[in-house]
Amino acid sequence: MLVICRARKYHFNSHQACEKETGGKMKKFMETCYKCKSAVKPSQCIKEGITLNCLKCSRCGEEYLTSSELIKFDIKTGRRKLIRKFGILGDSTFMRLPIEVVKQYKIKPGDYGLFEKRPEGILIKPVHARDIKG
Ligand SMILES: [Zn+2]
Repeated sequence: MLVICRARKYHFNSHQACEKETGGKMKKFMETCYKCKSAVKPSQCIKEGITLNCLKCSRCGEEYLTSSELIKFDIKTGRRKLIRKFGILGDSTFMRLPIEVVKQYKIKPGDYGLFEKRPEGILIKPVHARDIKG
């Protein structure tokens, strides 16, 4: 799914409010400005010192960002809190869990995480050791 946001009007961390799905899968980018219907062109914009690829309207100057550029912005500015880097430990790939997730799901040492493959990513279902005892 491609999400396009107006770069100026919306807060980056609330971009779900302006989600807009494009019609078909093949239509990768929007072609015209939502505001003035003029053609948009691939361009670059700098937000808070971070260079982002955007689509810019040639007439009114409105800038549009894709979801991947928004994620890049969130990561680089530290706005995305529920995000962790993959690391390597010996032969294993690991990721630390955010503390709020551990607390909310009451995850304790010895509990299990059930991985489910989903089209949009990986879902981890916590299974508490105390619930499967005996
Ligand atoms: Zn425009």
